[in-house]
Amino acid sequence: MTLPLHTEFDGIAALREALNQRKVSARELAESALQAADARSHLNAFVHVDAELTLAEAQAADDALAKGSAGPLAGVPIGHKDVLVTQHWRTTAASRMLENYVSPFDATVVERLRDSGAVSVGKLNCDEFGMGSSTEKSAWGPTRNPWDHNAVPGGSSGGSAAAVAADLVLASTGTDTGGSIRQPAALCGVSGIKPTYGTVSRYGMIAYGSSLDQAGPMARRALDLLEMLDAMSGFDPRDATCVEACQGHENASGRVRLAFARLEQAGTGSQPLAGLRIGVPSEFFGPGLAPDVAKAIETALSQLESLGAVRVPVSLPHTELSIAAYYVIATAEASSSLSRFDGVRYGHRAREFADLTEMISRSRAEAFGAEVQRRILTGTYVLSHGYYDAYYLKAQRIRRLIANDFQRVLSEQCDVIAGPVAPTVAWNLGEKSDDPVAMYLADIYTLAVNLAGLPAMSVPCGFGEGANQKRPVGLQLIGNYFDEARLLYAGHAFQQATDWHLRRPEQN
Ligand code: GLN
Repeated sequence: MTLPLHTEFDGIAALREALNQRKVSARELAESALQAADARSHLNAFVHVDAELTLAEAQAADDALAKGSAGPLAGVPIGHKDVLVTQHWRTTAASRMLENYVSPFDATVVERLRDSGAVSVGKLNCDEFGMGSSTEKSAWGPTRNPWDHNAVPGGSSGGSAAAVAADLVLASTGTDTGGSIRQPAALCGVSGIKPTYGTVSRYGMIAYGSSLDQAGPMARRALDLLEMLDAMSGFDPRDATCVEACQGHENASGRVRLAFARLEQAGTGSQPLAGLRIGVPSEFFGPGLAPDVAKAIETALSQLESLGAVRVPVSLPHTELSIAAYYVIATAEASSSLSRFDGVRYGHRAREFADLTEMISRSRAEAFGAEVQRRILTGTYVLSHGYYDAYYLKAQRIRRLIANDFQRVLSEQCDVIAGPVAPTVAWNLGEKSDDPVAMYLADIYTLAVNLAGLPAMSVPCGFGEGANQKRPVGLQLIGNYFDEARLLYAGHAFQQATDWHLRRPEQN
């Protein structure tokens, strides 16, 4: 199978140069990406593709290039997770509830990436409303892991990760409420970053847990994440939770690129990470961690040390409580976020009903999948009179303790925290489908980050062993608020010394 044209270039910067020199056109790139998406439709990574829309965006990019007014991502083929609303492609959040929904506007993230010139190949599969860790909970069927078609790609942004791993696009967008960018990136052997809460607009991102949700990019290379994040982030007056100013920057736009450039200047040749203190939390290496994953992480940590970083043992004592606290808070917020789907304003409406109440309950019962219903029920329960104090308030208190743990460690002991993204490599399709709690446990290392609102990244760092030798492992790097640049810089230094991020699945 021939690889799409964009794989001939060493990332976005190299592609930009080729486009500027007219060695390749946005149209050619878009055509070959569309062809690849079609040839690998068995992966079920894309759920809505429309060649006409993609080619129109490519034409706009070529026109801008000809006029010399092209944005930094002109011609770069990307895809969007199907929870980001788009005016032209359908947006379904992988739910029957929104089966034929077309948004009257574009999400800010979509708008910004298009304004930067990126060309969308379409919408990417995910777990319904972002609820899941395997992309098996999509109403449009599961996405397959390009490394092993019997394995899950992780989730909920599984389509976004698989599309990058299979080279259908150079980069994609995902959203991360409790790990949905980092975990599928890890399980598919690509890079991904969840930025600090509030730095990327949530306007037009279908809400799951509003105090946890954050959009971010996925790509093979850390440098490409930087390119994407730079275009996506920045203040948006339409999102009340968007931070206006951070770390001395009046406007959040451009801040990550600037900070990255400073770190790059300070770094020296063979020891680019000299002096970087990497905290390794003992709680991330407990009995639940698979030995082959532990081994790959250990090797990666040694690699970081050889680049100049210093390892510091740290403790995040409340890690264990993060699953319970997260699944109370996230479900509580989900029950509220999803109350808007009532069959009245938009979305699925039941055909037969006796009165308004029955219309609402039937519409919701027919269109929401089992996992979404489970979350709504749990969330409604923990918010109900008599249980609110016992569950919701207690979970909020634990959330504070978790955030405090990170603050203590990141302000006193280290610059970044490193550990695994997930306790195991990708599991087989269907393996955990009937056991929701087993699926929830897979999020143990990622959830706490969202509860605290911190930025965190996943970088490919190896493979499993034995039967898992073709299933990738991801290293997680967690930073302090607004410190995305340091994560990207460390990830980039790691990728200069390793080639895990460039490996390609054989069968694709
Ligand atoms: N697996 C977690 C959940 O189902 C996280 C999902 C996400 O980050 N969107 O809630």
